[in-house]
Amino acid sequence: MAESGLLQIRDPSKPYGKPVGIDLGTTNSLVAFVDELGATSAIPVDADGSRLLPSVVHYLEDGSTLVGREARAKLATHPHETISSVKRFMGKGPGDAETKKLGHYRFRAEPGDAIVRFDVGSKIVSPVEVSAEILKTLRRKAEAALDEQVGAAVITVPAYFDDAQRQATKDAGRLAGLEVLRLISEPTAAALAYGLDRRARGTFAVYDLGGGTFDVSILELVEGVFEVKSTAGDSSLGGDDFDRALATVLLEQLSGAVGRDLAADPFAIQAALHAARTAKHELTERENALAVVELPERTIEVEVSRAQFESLIGSLVQRTAIACRRALQDAGITPAQVDGVVLVGGSTRLPLVRRFVSEIFGGKEPLGDIDPDRVVALGAAIQAENLGGKPREDLLLLDVIPLSLGVETMGGVVEKIIHRNSTIPTSAAQIFTTYADGQSGMDIHVLQGERELVQDCRSLAKFRLGGIPPMPANMGRVQVTFAVDADGILSVSAKELTTGAEQSIVVEPSHGLTDEEVEEMLIASLENAEEDVAVRLAAEARVEAERVMYDLHKALESDAALLEPGEREAIAAAEAKVREAMTLSDHDRINVAVADLDHASAAFAQRRMERAIRNALTGHSVEEFE
Ligand code: ADP
Ligand code: MG
Repeated sequence: MAESGLLQIRDPSKPYGKPVGIDLGTTNSLVAFVDELGATSAIPVDADGSRLLPSVVHYLEDGSTLVGREARAKLATHPHETISSVKRFMGKGPGDAETKKLGHYRFRAEPGDAIVRFDVGSKIVSPVEVSAEILKTLRRKAEAALDEQVGAAVITVPAYFDDAQRQATKDAGRLAGLEVLRLISEPTAAALAYGLDRRARGTFAVYDLGGGTFDVSILELVEGVFEVKSTAGDSSLGGDDFDRALATVLLEQLSGAVGRDLAADPFAIQAALHAARTAKHELTERENALAVVELPERTIEVEVSRAQFESLIGSLVQRTAIACRRALQDAGITPAQVDGVVLVGGSTRLPLVRRFVSEIFGGKEPLGDIDPDRVVALGAAIQAENLGGKPREDLLLLDVIPLSLGVETMGGVVEKIIHRNSTIPTSAAQIFTTYADGQSGMDIHVLQGERELVQDCRSLAKFRLGGIPPMPANMGRVQVTFAVDADGILSVSAKELTTGAEQSIVVEPSHGLTDEEVEEMLIASLENAEEDVAVRLAAEARVEAERVMYDLHKALESDAALLEPGEREAIAAAEAKVREAMTLSDHDRINVAVADLDHASAAFAQRRMERAIRNALTGHSVEEFE
């Protein structure tokens, strides 16, 4: 940094100074850069040279913060004033499952609050603000190490992050004074770090087991272009769960030893978690370790063997196979078709995890020679350099959309506009017609999910397109366009095509979905597929029936004179049958009743048409029309 009094001169080709790559992790965060020689390295954030900044923020009484290891040390003594794993809350609402999970967080919900907030004693903070503290610290460390201004970054997010979570991450970047050049997915960053983009082609799996999350992605490289073919994961699975599994056992044993129940004591829990984590790391290198739990009354040591630990966490590790299989299936490939597996995340150091990954992907030795903690940050740095320095046009990064996006149509049915696993950036448009005569506006309800009905999908936003000029039903044409940008942010616009009247919104949904919720929605959509189709067909049949009856009523009003004796009664009887059929969800019955109604009113319709033709012909000789 320039000293005060000196002028700072900026390179106009790099208006934001040195671009850096940031891995904003659940457990640890890192910042990395590419030097003049093209070498990529992570920047030390601690006096002892550690590159990992624990993603923990502690709030002091005056509202100032400690970030990183010092903050982590406060977790045991100041659980309420210290926020860890804030990434889990990015873009989340107070009602989200994540929010309700065990934790030492003290939530504060203002009435009508759409986002989670934490009460940290001296103030109330949002996840975006907490993340911004972590980013600010990384930025300052980078500026000190590089002796240069740092104003722009590529930040990585899990491939599964939805709009709200991505938007929250971008906001945190801006709040930390960083121009967010781009958000890229963590697996894509890891693949870049391995230089996999320099190969001619290939299919790769990225297995990322961190502290708090598990993600697996299948990437396909075709001539320098990466495409995320599929992603799957589990946002509640990671090294923290291994710590918890061991800590729970420790607490049970210790409760007996000290003669009080420690299972709900926040200080004992933190102490046991700390001991469990330290022992876990040791067990990666050795067959045996001592878990040392420092309680206020006394310090207790428990011996743990690797075999014991592995049997404790075996089922947790096993759970990653579900997502791996789904990712393979979604990408339409078998394990044998995977050319390489990249290991990401500190937890992939565990020997058990390495054995397991190799097993899932058909016995292949996974790529693990780049430090699994750093690999994502290094890839992000490469991307930052590409965007902020000399752009490399041959490199295009593609992410996918986790759940389909669509709009509500008549009958409470969802019309999908952008399908799940579409690569981003992407856009798609569809034309809808007005439903009623003289309809002056159209409500656009944006939904996310795989199910057919609005009630089973997640509502993202609603807006109204007004100013549609008076027109008969079905004549107004509204084009609805969905566009998802390279950062995964959705914008929706609606345009009436005759007048050009237009309305648009950027969807910044108030809260996100957890990976489990995404998973649940997908499973539900598969399980309910048949039923959903039936319900959808019935809903569509009902809409069509309403339209037929609406047209018929209009005709009856204006042309009652054309009715013959008994005809009105016959039509009314057929209409009653339609209404009755509409209460059931059998589309065939509705369609049959509508056909009967058409039949009952056919003669009347014929007379109206003949009269219309006669009127049109009045004054013209018949020959003109031949
Ligand atoms: P995140 O992406 O969630 O920020 P990281 O990739 O930094 O997480 O991984 C952190 C996790 O890795 C923690 O649970 C930590 O305990 C675990 N970890 C780090 N080193 C080791 C090791 N040597 N053996 C086992 N687990 C480790
Ligand atoms: Mg990570």
